[in-house]
Amino acid sequence: MVSIDIIKIMITKTSIENLKNSIDIVDIISNFIQVKKSGANFTACCPFHGEKTASFVISPSKQIYHCFGCQVGGDAIKFIMEFEKLTYPEAIEKLATLSNFSLEYDDNYQRQDYSVIEKLNGYYQKLLVSNQEASEYLKSRGISSFSIEKFELGFAPSSNETVNYLKNNFLNLSDGKDFGIIDYGQGGVYARFIDRITFPIYNNTSKLVGFGGRTISGHGAKYINSPQTKYFNKSKLLYGYNIAKDHIFKEKQIIITEGYLDVIMLHQAGFQTAVATLGTALTSEHLPLLKRSEPKVILAYDGDKAGLNAAYKASNLLSQNGYDGGVVIFGDGMDPADMVMNRKMDILKDMFTNTKPFAEYCIDYICDSHDLFNPNDKQKALNEVNDYFKSLTPIMQQSYVPYVSSRLNINSNLLNLANEHHGRAQKRMNLSQIDIAELSIIKTMLEMESLVASVLNIINEDMFQTHRNEFNLLLNDKDDPLLRALLLQEEVKIYSVEDLNNQLMILLVPYYNKKLQLVTNDKTIDFKEKSRQIRALKDNIDFIKKGDINSLTMI
Ligand SMILES: [Zn+2]
Repeated sequence: MVSIDIIKIMITKTSIENLKNSIDIVDIISNFIQVKKSGANFTACCPFHGEKTASFVISPSKQIYHCFGCQVGGDAIKFIMEFEKLTYPEAIEKLATLSNFSLEYDDNYQRQDYSVIEKLNGYYQKLLVSNQEASEYLKSRGISSFSIEKFELGFAPSSNETVNYLKNNFLNLSDGKDFGIIDYGQGGVYARFIDRITFPIYNNTSKLVGFGGRTISGHGAKYINSPQTKYFNKSKLLYGYNIAKDHIFKEKQIIITEGYLDVIMLHQAGFQTAVATLGTALTSEHLPLLKRSEPKVILAYDGDKAGLNAAYKASNLLSQNGYDGGVVIFGDGMDPADMVMNRKMDILKDMFTNTKPFAEYCIDYICDSHDLFNPNDKQKALNEVNDYFKSLTPIMQQSYVPYVSSRLNINSNLLNLANEHHGRAQKRMNLSQIDIAELSIIKTMLEMESLVASVLNIINEDMFQTHRNEFNLLLNDKDDPLLRALLLQEEVKIYSVEDLNNQLMILLVPYYNKKLQLVTNDKTIDFKEKSRQIRALKDNIDFIKKGDINSLTMI
């Protein structure tokens, strides 16, 4: 079926802007939950996670909300979307109704037309049936004809055949380029997928956005994906999610594998919550998709080095973000697809039931990558475990103390348990002076963008002791929940330009002194260079003493 995504663009932009300007977030949220005034802000018990103390804060001046417990947040539209489980345009309409606002609709709307990729997918599916080599390959991997239909597997022919198909059916070539199906080279237009079995990839609203392709002629890489397009972002998508979605919500479980064939074969064997990342590790961009159903996450990865490493990264990410679940590693060169093919369903079921919890996997991974008989190496392992612990909640840390001390064979008091964890859930109270100073600098730059360029002339991330992460987010991802929380943290002040300069200097003095010491003791740089650096550092320290921040040079 050909679908056209029109609703998003039907409401005019101006009308959305006017609506946004006419509403007040406190009024809107009060329609749904009880809010209480508290200083300059309003607080409430968060409707998105069960809680008895109010950690949900609404700021009338910034028109945003943020939950310090579960990190949700955003503007009024976001609240309606999350609370009422609506799409963006639906939320806009709901908001308009709530505030008696008449929206304007655009009758000249621009259509996002999926017909090129959808029709091509149909063409590829037909070609698979008549292609013996591709069909034989799928059969040899144990894939049933039912699965071929369910997953819409197809076959991409020669470049010319694809291009002619598009032309003969009067399909829009420029749309084809937007979808990454074709591109323009020196010899004219050419197809991206040639002589490959195609695996159509859908996004989370079940729109076809790209393909994965496996070569059968041995041309180029074994597997390729569609290129990055405005529709296709491989770090956000999960293969098979459109088919697994209902099962994921129902069973509260998701099995994440590494390959297309793993997904198809697992579904074939009744494990219908299986999906795969697209040739990348699991990233934080995947988390919103996972969060929707709050499933138990099972990572089903290969036992090779790449697989173990990917499982470690993903376990780290998931445990820090409070996901339940664990890891299954497939050894002996067997992947999930092979297991199904060899009818080892019972063993698979057992493996998925008895997963290794993420934290345990991370601790094991750290321990296994060090020689624990060597005291120096063991110390390194301990440091890494301590670092990892900092990203966990206090309860999680506490629960893994016995495990770590037995794995490392050390006394548990060598473990550094933090009272508050420094992961995604940023602590709210008990900020130290240094925290407040660093955070205030970041908050000031967040509020007064015009200052950023001049501040960046004199500081970099190395100068931050505890809030390097927020500093980097300021430069790279201003929408991060950590920064949103910062905007609402009242104990963190916004500085005047003068205070900002004073605080920067307080931050810079210990930094330059330390650096001076390092350079003085460094035996690897030659005398001339060393003198130059020492002079520059001493000059900077002098400038700071005189309060002359404008003369500082970055060293
Ligand atoms: Zn919350």
